[in-house]
Amino acid sequence: MKMHNFSAGPAILPASVMAEAAEGVRNLNGSGLSILEISHRSAAFTAIIEEAEALVRELLNLSDAYAVLFLSGGASTQFYQAPMNLLNDGETAGYADTGAWSDKAIKEAKHFGNVQVVASSKADNYTYIPRGYNIPAGLKYLHLTSNNTIFGTQYHWWPETDAPLVCDMSSDMLSRPIPVEKFGLIYAGAQKNLGPAGVTLVLVRKDLLGTAKRHIPTMLDYKVHIENGSLYNTPPAFPIYVTMLTLRWIKAMGGLTAMAAHNEAKAKVLYDEIDANPLFRGAVTEPADRSLMNVTFVTEQPGHEKPFLDAAKAAGLVDIKGHRSVGGFRASIYNAMPPESIQVLVDLMRDFAAKNG
Ligand SMILES: *Cc1c(COP(=O)(O)O)cnc(C)c1O
Repeated sequence: MKMHNFSAGPAILPASVMAEAAEGVRNLNGSGLSILEISHRSAAFTAIIEEAEALVRELLNLSDAYAVLFLSGGASTQFYQAPMNLLNDGETAGYADTGAWSDKAIKEAKHFGNVQVVASSKADNYTYIPRGYNIPAGLKYLHLTSNNTIFGTQYHWWPETDAPLVCDMSSDMLSRPIPVEKFGLIYAGAQKNLGPAGVTLVLVRKDLLGTAKRHIPTMLDYKVHIENGSLYNTPPAFPIYVTMLTLRWIKAMGGLTAMAAHNEAKAKVLYDEIDANPLFRGAVTEPADRSLMNVTFVTEQPGHEKPFLDAAKAAGLVDIKGHRSVGGFRASIYNAMPPESIQVLVDLMRDFAAKNG
C-alpha cells in the first residue's frame, strides 16, 4: 500500500533525496566507500559540508556576517546554548511564549539571565500567536518560535524591536524566504524539514559572540565551532550529508520563493476542506496564524474522532493523530509533502462527511 507520511518529526523527506542517500550509504559518488565509514576530515566529506554551507548561504542570501554551523544535540540543546553564549547574568532577554517549545526555551534561558515573557497565548492553549503587545527597548534579544509544531500556528509577520531576533525555526526552516537581517541567531533541528535527526542547523551573527562573561564549555561555545568549521569533533556526518541533498533539492525546486508558493498552495487545499467540511473545524482560532507546515483540526462531534482515525489508517495515512495536548488531528505537510498525499487526505474527509454527515 502507498503510505502518506504526515508525521510531525522525524518527517517526510523528498523521495529523490531518500534514493540518493541510500546510494550514498552503499557507494558514495562511486568511491566504493559508504558515507557511514569515511573520515570527517576526508576530501569527500569536506566537499559535502562545504556544499551544504554554500547552499544554505545561497538559499537565504546570507552575508559573511553570519556563520553557518552544523551542530548536534537538537534544537533542545539550543534552548540553553543560545542564552549561555548571548545572555549575561543581569541582562534581559524577551521571549514570546507561543507553544510547548517556547515554554521549554524559556525554562532553560532562566538559568542564564533575566527572562521577560513579552507575550503568551498559553492561557488559551496556544491557539493563536499574540500580537499588539509592548516590547521593551534594550532587550539583549527577542526569542521567537516561528512555527509551533504542536499547536499549528506560525508567524507570518515579525515583531518590531531594536533587539536581534533569536528564533527556533525547527519546523519551518527553509520553507519560505525570511528577512535574515532581523535575526541574530536561527536554529533548527533537521528532522522536520531538512534531513534525518541528529544535526541542528545554526545561523549566528558573529558580532553577537564573544561577550559572554561566563565560562562556556568548549562544545557549547559557538566560537569554537565557527573556528573549526563545525569539525571541532566528529560531526553527525550522515545527517549532514542528507541535509545537503535536501538543500540541493530545495534549490532545484526553485529556491525559497518557489518553496513558499508550493507550501501555500498545498496548505490552502487542506484548510479549504477543513473550513468547508461540516464535520471538521480548524484548531487554531486566528486563521491568519495558521501554520503552512502543521495543520491542526478537530471533529465537530467527539464521536467522529476514532472512526476518522481508523479510516485514515486504512487509507495509508500515517501519523495524523494530533498531539495529546491538542487532541484531534495534525497533518504535518512539510516541504517534501507531495500535493497528491494532501489530496488523499482531503478526499478521505469528503468521503467521511458523505457517509457520516
Ligand atoms: C521538534 C522541535 C523541537 C525539538 O527538537 P529536538 O531536535 O528534538 O531537540 C524544538 N522546537 C520546535 C519548534 C520543534 O518542532
